[in-house]
Amino acid sequence: MSTLVDYDDALSRYEPVIGLEVHVELGTASKMFCGCPTTFGGQPNTQVCPVCLGLPGSLPVVNRAAIESTIRMGLALNCDIASWCRFARKNYFYPDMPKDYQISQYDEPLCTDGYLDVSVPTPDGEVQVVRVGIERVHMEEDTGKLTHTGGATGRIHGADYSLVDYNRAGIPLVEIVTKPVTGTGALAPMVARAYVTALRDIMRSLGVSDVRMEEGSLRCDANLSLAPPGEPWGTRTETKNVNSLRSVERSVTFEIRRQAAVLDGGGTITQETRHFHEDDGSTTPGRSKEEAEDYRYFPEPDLLPVAPDPVWVDELRGTLPELPAVRRARLQQEWGISDFDMDSVINAGALGLVETTIAAGADQAAARKWWLGELARTAKERGVDLADLGVTPVQVARVAELVAAGTLNDKLARQVLEGVAAGEGEPDAVIAARGLVLVSDDDALLAALDEAIAANQDAVAKIQEGKVQAAGAIIGAVMKATRGQADAARVRELLLERLGA
Ligand code: ADP
Ligand code: MG
Ligand code: ZN
Repeated sequence: MSTLVDYDDALSRYEPVIGLEVHVELGTASKMFCGCPTTFGGQPNTQVCPVCLGLPGSLPVVNRAAIESTIRMGLALNCDIASWCRFARKNYFYPDMPKDYQISQYDEPLCTDGYLDVSVPTPDGEVQVVRVGIERVHMEEDTGKLTHTGGATGRIHGADYSLVDYNRAGIPLVEIVTKPVTGTGALAPMVARAYVTALRDIMRSLGVSDVRMEEGSLRCDANLSLAPPGEPWGTRTETKNVNSLRSVERSVTFEIRRQAAVLDGGGTITQETRHFHEDDGSTTPGRSKEEAEDYRYFPEPDLLPVAPDPVWVDELRGTLPELPAVRRARLQQEWGISDFDMDSVINAGALGLVETTIAAGADQAAARKWWLGELARTAKERGVDLADLGVTPVQVARVAELVAAGTLNDKLARQVLEGVAAGEGEPDAVIAARGLVLVSDDDALLAALDEAIAANQDAVAKIQEGKVQAAGAIIGAVMKATRGQADAARVRELLLERLGA
């Protein structure tokens, strides 16, 4: 295990610079340069043809839908769209790449020089907006998938043999590379995470990819360097294939602490790729720059240049949806809530759910309260996303409506939602089946109240001395006796009447 410096200590002496390279697998129906389907999970090597198998004499043709998606991504990231650019051959030998070269873009990317503004929560509960510069957005093709069998770790070392599946070879990939991000200090890991999150949300709203990090349709490499304040940037390391948002944050945090320890000890950082380990959040060395291959890039001779007509680019600009940041700002304004409250909604993954619940008639505070309270807790217990809980916005709106009408109190409403989440049916069915009605009938309440008064003479004395807070004990006893089904506000009124207070 590497020596690590305390995080705050490291940040007091060094300025971090981060850079993120994100690969997004596009959701096109066919591959980048041939007509093979891109569906996930097919039998190995059934979605292949001479082009994606790299057989001699086969010729690639560019997928128009992939270009279209990439241009839309570039526009959403405020990039310039090249009026003319070419693909390049990246030459290397590895069995997952049947042609022995990957068709990519090198010095002529389709989209350049954009930015993405990301909102980063700060430790003091504020939200800081950081502009992340986008260096380039370029197209390439995915590789096949190798499965190493017989080794303990699934790695090639120690494996008895390896299997290769070319179904993934040739699926369109887009790589988005940031400019170096400076000046974020201790927020650097959060900025990295917020950036990947924002990027994922944009891709999702554009509908260009399903952007599932767990399934590898969005993959991130995180670069980090440290330097003392005022000094030129330090040497970076590149942590490869960080496969969750949390891991992005953790890997940057780890590298800050590790590099600080190396620099403190008078050492130098080796420019290298590193592997991230989910179990303990550490990184370990991969390839060093000295071993880096020379890819002998040259313009791909089998493909025509890509020269998108400016009229088409303008048409595509017109197809951009309301982008997530704009939507958030609009909803926050409509709901009249603070940055902090809005952040809670977003972090819970509840934005769309809350929005739809409000559209179904609930008040904004109630919609947020149920999704972020009871339902978030249940989702966490089950380890599922809120959206997969099996509770719909319409059902939550119905519960909120019953609470607003005084038919349910919060405690009963929680039980109704619990029942809905447990698959007991619609809210009204759960209420009927479980007998969850608020008792506000005075006779029933008075019976319970009189018992509670008799059993709590201390509290009665205090109330009569004018200490009205003591009413809580008696109301609590009534709630308990009625298994939470008493209308607490009415109990309070009756109590004060009874005692003439
Ligand atoms: P590579 O081919 O080595 O992956 P790229 O240009 O594709 O290089 O990506 C390098 C990434 O590292 C970019 O996001 C870039 O902004 C970032 N970067 C460059 N220099 C530094 C540095 N000194 N510290 C941190 N990140 C850096
Ligand atoms: Mg790169
Ligand atoms: Zn094919």
